[in-house]
Amino acid sequence: MPTLETPYSILNEVVRDVLKRSGKSATAEIELMPFNPSVLGFVRAGQNTIYVNTVPLMGVDQAHVSEYLYVVILHEYLHLLGIADEREVRRITLEMVDEKFGQSSFAHNLSLKLADPRDVMLMDSWKTGKPHTYM
Ligand SMILES: [Zn+2]
Repeated sequence: MPTLETPYSILNEVVRDVLKRSGKSATAEIELMPFNPSVLGFVRAGQNTIYVNTVPLMGVDQAHVSEYLYVVILHEYLHLLGIADEREVRRITLEMVDEKFGQSSFAHNLSLKLADPRDVMLMDSWKTGKPHTYM
């Protein structure tokens, strides 16, 4: 079980990475607590606290805790910045995690599981140089 020092150092990294990508930032707090295990984390509208669920967190292998927290905190931080759309947040998370950790990482696999299959298909199609588009 990580102390709050780990989540906060990861939050700082997330804030830096998002600022670099989008030019946006916000202040955020982190609170670790147990709740419904099917939810990894959440934010409340109008608040700047990112709640991280300790129940699934405790099941994460120590070697992967940092990448796990990066994915969860990045996701909630994007909501905090005002992106309400769940699918959009999941797509941006996957893109950023791929750039940062690479496609064989734990963070990639976690983000991929959380991403919308339509976006995964689109992103894969860009890689092969035959991009699909929506209509
Ligand atoms: Zn979300």
